[in-house]
Amino acid sequence: MLHKERMPAKPKEPIIFVNGEFLPQSEAKISVLDHGLMYGDGCFDAWCGRNGFVFQLDAHLDRLYRSVKGLKLDLKMPKATMRANIIECVHRNVVPDVYIKVLVTRGISPEPVIDPRKCKEASVVIFAREEQFEVPAEKKGVGIRIKVNSIRRTSHMSMEPKIKTLNYLNIVMGKLEAWECGFDEAVMLDDNGYVCECPGFNISFVSGNTLFTPSHGILVGITRNSVMEMAREMGMDVREGYYTVFDFTSADEVFMTNTVAGVAPVVNIDGWTIGDGKMGPITRKFQEIYLNWLETGRHGTQVFPEAWS
Ligand code: PMP
Repeated sequence: MLHKERMPAKPKEPIIFVNGEFLPQSEAKISVLDHGLMYGDGCFDAWCGRNGFVFQLDAHLDRLYRSVKGLKLDLKMPKATMRANIIECVHRNVVPDVYIKVLVTRGISPEPVIDPRKCKEASVVIFAREEQFEVPAEKKGVGIRIKVNSIRRTSHMSMEPKIKTLNYLNIVMGKLEAWECGFDEAVMLDDNGYVCECPGFNISFVSGNTLFTPSHGILVGITRNSVMEMAREMGMDVREGYYTVFDFTSADEVFMTNTVAGVAPVVNIDGWTIGDGKMGPITRKFQEIYLNWLETGRHGTQVFPEAWS
């Protein structure tokens, strides 16, 4: 068990892993010629941990390495070394309740022009910070109002959304549109008008005893998969398919998921009230179970050193 009183003091500045070194944030630098900066040429993944357990550590690592392969990045670091570096970063930052982010870029180009062939080996950056919330706590209790974006989620025919690329402009623009129109978040459709996902979240709905979630045009979220597992354990049916905005607005409950926010209720889509406009009981149950899994280490890897126990 983790004993927080046995932990050392936190470093004055966050410690960041950059290409083989653990450096204070003010010294952690990446080249201006990095293809990740110039072209969003790279990928990333993000984890969260509670009480010294990192949730779904290996599932996220596997997804990161699938993204690396999908982008043909020349990453020399084996998965086991990446895993060890992530854990060391948690130790060095003394963060048992942690938000971890790993960036892998194509690396440094000799010139500020597009030539992926000339990039040296991939750059790697690892952050391990105090847990950060993407959805404010009050919204997680009250519910989120989302806008249907006018721009479409990038199709797998142009850039496969299953790859968690560093090129998140499609998503950044989706968020901006929602915020500028006074909504809390957004939902993105595919080119045929089917619901894909929210910028940075998966979206699902509940009708009766069934959980429905889009099967395509999404990053296959690890929280989404965890909620599907919870639903099955609760005796619910789980279906993945193509759903329209109407399927969502006429559902009993709608919620968004991601690793950092967990399960966040959606109570309004483009002015349409979902259910009675409040967080539904099944969404609340998923929220509770998610928190319980995080805190008790279900699907968690214990990352704190012996000295903290
Ligand atoms: N979709 C996108 C586009 C995302 O960036 C994310 C994660 N930030 C998700 C879905 C949710 O994935 P996960 O549950 O694995 O965090």
